[in-house]
Amino acid sequence: MADGLGESAEVRPQVAVRDLGGGVRSVAVPIPDNPLGHTLVYVMDTDRGPVLVDTGWDDPGSWDVLVAGLEACGTGVGEVHGVVITHHHPDHHGLSGRVREASGAWIAMHAADAAIVRRARETRPERWFTYMAAKLTAAGAPDEHVAPLRDGPRRRTPPGLAPALPDREILPGELLGLPGRRLRAVWTPGHTPGHVCLHLEEEHPARLPGHGRLFSGDHLLPEITPHIGLYEDPDDATVTDPLGDYLDSLERVGRLAPAEVLPAHQHTFTDAPGRVRELLAHHEERLAGLLTLLRQPLTPWELAVRMEWNRPWEQIPYGSRNIAVSEAEAHLRRLVKLGRAEAVTGSDPVTYVAV
Ligand SMILES: [Zn+2]
Ligand SMILES: [Zn+2]
Repeated sequence: MADGLGESAEVRPQVAVRDLGGGVRSVAVPIPDNPLGHTLVYVMDTDRGPVLVDTGWDDPGSWDVLVAGLEACGTGVGEVHGVVITHHHPDHHGLSGRVREASGAWIAMHAADAAIVRRARETRPERWFTYMAAKLTAAGAPDEHVAPLRDGPRRRTPPGLAPALPDREILPGELLGLPGRRLRAVWTPGHTPGHVCLHLEEEHPARLPGHGRLFSGDHLLPEITPHIGLYEDPDDATVTDPLGDYLDSLERVGRLAPAEVLPAHQHTFTDAPGRVRELLAHHEERLAGLLTLLRQPLTPWELAVRMEWNRPWEQIPYGSRNIAVSEAEAHLRRLVKLGRAEAVTGSDPVTYVAV
């Protein structure tokens, strides 16, 4: 741990609860079969009962850990007053519905991610497969990659297709109105369009230098860079620039200069501005690398195949390849917006080239 705060207390077997001081604790809720390991659910005391920042993956084992973790914090799931969600992904919002059922807590989320939740509940899986098939074809994916989406057997409903509808909207820049606390929402689009960080504007319990503490969700993580893809929406043809949004949002949280960052994965850390600089440099380097690849015209698929990933393309599983193409497209959008690449007129599927 980078900060040396609090005690790492194994209160019960398999339940890792950590007291971070100042009425904030974390519970490590496991994500089954995922290399990330766990989501850090933060439990914040308020005058009306605990408020959670994120809830964890919707799985019976994860639920048991969350329930035991709350008990280890000296409270219980029935006492939860509210749930603040950093973004709609199932490792963050998965258990929100169960927490609300058990406690009557409200669930708060930014409107842009709430819209995704609503759409996920209303869209039949077939529509998603059709949309994804069309999108991947347009990105230059080979037919053998697209075919399973178009006419293959329908797999079981993926997680995150029946998420809980939030009851409250998180308004950027506003205090959340938690009794006895000062928690302000900071809109940080990029990883998702409605991602928020939450700034606890209270003096750091160990008086570390800086401005309070920041619950950073997936926006700012100590050792990994979050996935930045397109904001997939079958009903919206707006040409968004998620990577541009992300880089702007990074600068925004860097300027806040919190004394400590409480991320949703891995571990807490200090020196947010330093981490922001690292990430900005990483993306700058990556964009420069892509421009080199784009000396010859490439489709988004061809670009994804040539980009550097954490393993060779041949070893990347099917679903992760789709995510990789989305990430390649987000980078192309950025380069086009910066005037450093352009679409080749008349190409079909469309290819892009450095200018
Ligand atoms: Zn996420
Ligand atoms: Zn996450």
